[in-house]
Amino acid sequence: MHELSLIQNLMEIVNESAAENDITQVHKVKLVIGESHGALPDALDFAFQILTENTICAGAVLEVEKKPVIIKCKDCNAEFKPEGISYRCTACSSMNVKQISGRELYIDYYEGD
Ligand SMILES: [Zn+2]
Repeated sequence: MHELSLIQNLMEIVNESAAENDITQVHKVKLVIGESHGALPDALDFAFQILTENTICAGAVLEVEKKPVIIKCKDCNAEFKPEGISYRCTACSSMNVKQISGRELYIDYYEGD
């Protein structure tokens, strides 16, 4: 499951950071994830529960903030959400575009004591 490896990498970061800060119990983890990752909320929750078992994050709440895919046109600077799989500019039909949002994947913050 794709979500397992995503969460696993992130939990390693949280565990390391918590150890450095003498935190023995994490209560909440806030995750920011772009829609480009295609992760399903239920699968993220499930992965989080499995991977935090018997760790300092056991029982913590996982809050997920999803970032939409946003494309910016390099020709006319319009910003838009792509329709389907087409990344063509909705303002000028240019294909000269770049993705400026939707690939995020990081822990925004975590709370513990
Ligand atoms: Zn354009």
